[in-house]
Amino acid sequence: MEVEGISLRQDLRNIAIIAHVDHGKTTLVDALFREGGVFRENQRAPERLMDSGELERERGITILAKNAAVQYDGVKINLIDTPGHADFGGEVERILTMVEGALLLVDSAEGPMPQTRYVLRKALEAGLSPLVVINKMDRPDARPAAVVDQVLELFMDLGAQEEQLDFPVIYTSAREGWASREQGIRGSDLDPLFQAILRHIPSPGGDPAAPLQLQVTTLDYDDYQGRIAIGRIAQGKIRAGETVALARDGEVVERPRVARVFLAKGVGREAVEEALAGDVVAVTGLAGINIGDTITSPDDPVPLPGIRVDEPTLVMTFRTNDSPLVGQEGKYVTSRHLRERLFRELERNVALRVEETDSPDAFRVAGRGELHLSILIETIRREGYELGISKPEVILREEGGTRLEPYEELLVEVLPDYVGSAMELIGGRRGELQSMGEGSAGSSRLEFRITSRGLLGLRADFMAATRGYGTMHHVYAGYGPWQGEMGSRTRGSIVATEAGEATGYALHNLEDRGVFFVAPGTRVYPGMVIGEYTRESDIEVNVCKKKHATNVRSATAEETFKLASPRLLTLEGALEFIAADELVEVTPANIRVRKLYLDQQDRRAKRRG
Ligand code: GDP
Repeated sequence: MEVEGISLRQDLRNIAIIAHVDHGKTTLVDALFREGGVFRENQRAPERLMDSGELERERGITILAKNAAVQYDGVKINLIDTPGHADFGGEVERILTMVEGALLLVDSAEGPMPQTRYVLRKALEAGLSPLVVINKMDRPDARPAAVVDQVLELFMDLGAQEEQLDFPVIYTSAREGWASREQGIRGSDLDPLFQAILRHIPSPGGDPAAPLQLQVTTLDYDDYQGRIAIGRIAQGKIRAGETVALARDGEVVERPRVARVFLAKGVGREAVEEALAGDVVAVTGLAGINIGDTITSPDDPVPLPGIRVDEPTLVMTFRTNDSPLVGQEGKYVTSRHLRERLFRELERNVALRVEETDSPDAFRVAGRGELHLSILIETIRREGYELGISKPEVILREEGGTRLEPYEELLVEVLPDYVGSAMELIGGRRGELQSMGEGSAGSSRLEFRITSRGLLGLRADFMAATRGYGTMHHVYAGYGPWQGEMGSRTRGSIVATEAGEATGYALHNLEDRGVFFVAPGTRVYPGMVIGEYTRESDIEVNVCKKKHATNVRSATAEETFKLASPRLLTLEGALEFIAADELVEVTPANIRVRKLYLDQQDRRAKRRG
C-alpha cells in the first residue's frame, strides 16, 4: 500500500537478476559489491559472491536462488537471484512476488539465450520494471546494437506491456568494473548502473504502520536455526521475539513466537531487532511454517490467500545401493543415510515428495519432472551418496473419467541443417510442432508441445541428432489427454555373467551383439547391464573372458583390438534406457545400469511369475 502514491521505502529496492550462466552475473555482483563498499578496507571481498556450482555450470542453469544486498547512496539494493530453469513448482513466481524490478543481464556477443525465456516471461507477466544490462562490452566481438534488438524482439514475443518495451539499457564490463549509458562510450565506474537502478526500479510500497502481513515465499533450513521462512513484508513490522499469528488458507492456525529476524547483508544475513514493510526477511522459530502461509498480526490478522505449490508429475524409486561394488566409491550407503538425506531435502525443496515403501531400503521420490529429480540425484551423488534408481514413471491423473498425463512446452534452437533431424526425432516421440521461427545467431527456433513421457531422455538423442549444435529447453505446461502406450524399448540388454574387468578380447568377440557401455578394464559384476543388445530380448555374456595364453606374445596382445568406443552413460541417458526390471546405479564416480535382481536364477523365477 502506498501513502498518497508515495512509497515510504525510498531507501530500498528489491530486484530479481535474470541471467544465463556465464553471462557474467557473479562478476557483476562482485563488482557492485566492491563499489558499494560492502567490505571494509581491511576485508577482502570473497572472490565470487553469487557463484554457481559445478552442476549449475554443467547444465547452464541456476539451481539455487541466492540473495545479496548492496548499499548505494543511502539506498539498500536487494539482489535476488532467480533460478534460470524450468519451474519446480511455482518457485519462480513466488520469488518474483518479492521484487519490483528485474535486471536482465545479457552477454554482448551471445545475446539472450532460451534458458532465460521462462523466467523473463514470468517477470514481465508479473508487471515488473525491467532493466537490461548488456555485459562484456570489452569483448572484441561485442555486437550490442544487434543484441538490444534481440532483447526487444524477445520482450515482444513474450507479450511485454508498452512501458516494459521502453526498458532502459546499460552497457557494462563487469570484469573491468564499469557501466555506461551509451553503447560507444566506455564508463569509468558502475555509477550509471546504480543510478539506473535507483531511477527506474520502483521502491516497494506497503504501510509500516498497518498490521503485519508477510507471506512466506521460500523456505530455507539450517541445522541450528531449523526451518527458516523467507518472504517480503507486505505491510507492518516484524520484531525478533514477538508473538505472531500464522495463517494458512485464510485461517489462523497457530500463534507462535518469532525467534530471530534477519535481513540480507552482503552475501550473508544480519540479525535485526525489527524489519519493516518492503524488507525481504528471513524469520526463524516458526517450526510448523510452510510456503504460502501468512505471518500476521495476532490482534488484527490479515491473512493472504494460500499459494498453491504444483503437484509432482514424475516419480522414481530411490533405493540403497546393493551392488557388489557398494561402498567403494561413496561415503554414504546405508538406508539410514539415504532416508535422512531425502527427508532433509523436503525442508526446502517444496515441490518434492518422499514416501516410505514396504522396504526400509526403498523410497518413492516424486518431483516436477526429470530435471528436478536428476538435479537432486546429481547433488546427493556429489555429496558422497550411492544409490539405485528405478525407471521414472509419469504421474497420471483421472478427471471426469478421462486419463490425463503431464505435457511440456519444448523450445529447441538448431542450425538450419539440423531442423529435419530434430523434427523427425521429436515427432517420433509424438511432439507436436507449434511454431517455427528464427532463433539466435542464424539458428531456427521450433516450439513443440510434447508429453513428459516423450521428453524422458530426449536430450541425449537430441544432442546426437544435432551434433551438439542445438539447445533445448522445456517447461511444464499442464496435464492433457493420455496419448496411449508409447513404443517402449525395442532393444534388450547385454548382461554380464562374471565379476571382473571387461577385456578387449571379449568385447571384440561380442562386438556384433550391440553397443557396449564398458571399455576394456571397466569393472563389471554379474547382473550388470553392460550394453544394448541388437534384439528385443536380453542376452547374458561373459565380458571378462581372456584369450588363452598359448604363447607369451599373444598374452600381451590385449590392447591391440580396434574397438568401437563405448557409449558413455549420462544420468538422464541411463534413466531413459533402463527397463522396468533394471536400476541405474549412481555413485560419486560412476553411472552404471544393472538388473534389479542380480542373480540369473532370481530373474528367471521372477519372469515366470
Ligand atoms: P555467471 O555464470 O553469470 O555468474 O558468470 P561469471 O561472472 O562467472 O562470468 C563468466 C565468465 O565471463 C568468466 O570467465 C568471467 O571472467 C567472464 N566475464 C564476466 N564479465 C565479463 C566482462 O565484462 N567481460 C569479459 N570479457 N568477460 C567477462
